[in-house]
Amino acid sequence: MAAPKVAVVGAGVIGLSTALCITETCPSCSVTVLSDQFSPNTTSDVAAGMLIPHTYPGTPIHVQKQWFKETFTYLFAISNSAEASEAGIHLVSGWQVFKNIPKEELPFWSDVVLGFRPMSEAELQKFPQHRFGQAFMTLKCDCPPYLLWLEKRLKATGVQMYTRKVADLWELHSEYNVVVNCAGIGAQQLVGDKKLFPVRGQVLKVHAPWVKNFIRDGDGLTYIYPGIHRVTLGGTREKESWSLSPDPGTTKDIFDRCCSLEPSLRGAQDIKVKVGLRPSRQSVRLQREILSQGGVKLPVVHNYGHGAGGFSMHRGTAKEAARLVGECIAALQGSSSRAKL
Ligand code: FAD
Repeated sequence: MAAPKVAVVGAGVIGLSTALCITETCPSCSVTVLSDQFSPNTTSDVAAGMLIPHTYPGTPIHVQKQWFKETFTYLFAISNSAEASEAGIHLVSGWQVFKNIPKEELPFWSDVVLGFRPMSEAELQKFPQHRFGQAFMTLKCDCPPYLLWLEKRLKATGVQMYTRKVADLWELHSEYNVVVNCAGIGAQQLVGDKKLFPVRGQVLKVHAPWVKNFIRDGDGLTYIYPGIHRVTLGGTREKESWSLSPDPGTTKDIFDRCCSLEPSLRGAQDIKVKVGLRPSRQSVRLQREILSQGGVKLPVVHNYGHGAGGFSMHRGTAKEAARLVGECIAALQGSSSRAKL
């Protein structure tokens, strides 16, 4: 079999990182990324990019922990290299604070992030409305720079990237041996997945360079995540809302909530509002499927549905998707050599 041709549909953090993992695990593959949008126009560009996992109720915890650990280890190495600022990856310390003591005082990811510990009474004095807190250091991706860095690495390994809206995965069967579906919320239409739904998120990106620590309310709704250039203030979680228009009332509400956690934000400048649709599911869809029409088969690997945790989990799920692509290619090579006998 000649160099296997692999198409990756989608150019958000999941599509780009999956394409990169495929080039690493299958150097003989010819990989192409097809997407109707690239950075800066994807959901991944809107994200805060903090490595704090959200739990997927339909995925075993040990699997989620493995994905998170692989992602953390990968980005930690980048943060510790000369590439860190170009890739937009940096370490950030801060606090997750709770009004009531949470059921789970030790989340599954507590021994993956660095220096996780309960906050002291003295530290809690910064948050008079909160009774309990956790201090730790984690990683943050500045999303558009990270996506551009991934694109640059892909181009350097010879990956082709084309703007193309795919109406049906089957339309790719005559051009590619394996198709990888990383279409995010677009997968609802592309493969008719009714278990996938949008969770709308509105955030503000502000200039407030004096804010150095992250602050996250334990309910996950209000957060302040300092990046290299801008601070992301969040947020909202609106299930089944498809609106990409910013809502001015919500902007004021987010700003007020964040100022009540960090009053110095009243002096923030240059407030930009962004909206994205989290591709949400009970569990990430990470599996092989064989499409077939008239005796012709097309192996597909799905990797979508990362909801609120695409950045936290991307490298782990990309590695698994690349492994599944390897299985598809091994099966194709097995059948082509049997056909020659
Ligand atoms: P996308 O970025 O949406 O990419 C999908 C790609 O598929 C796009 O390029 C699109 O153009 C393409 N596509 C879709 N349909 C088709 C088609 N038919 N044909 C061709 N191309 C197609 N996660 C974290 O881990 N940490 C955070 O701090 C965080 N903060 C967030 C804050 C907000 C406000 C939001 C909205 C999300 C946040 N997330 C966060 C979640 C994260 O953004 C998502 O999980 C992640 O971006 C999903 O990546 P994706 O590549 O699957 O989707």
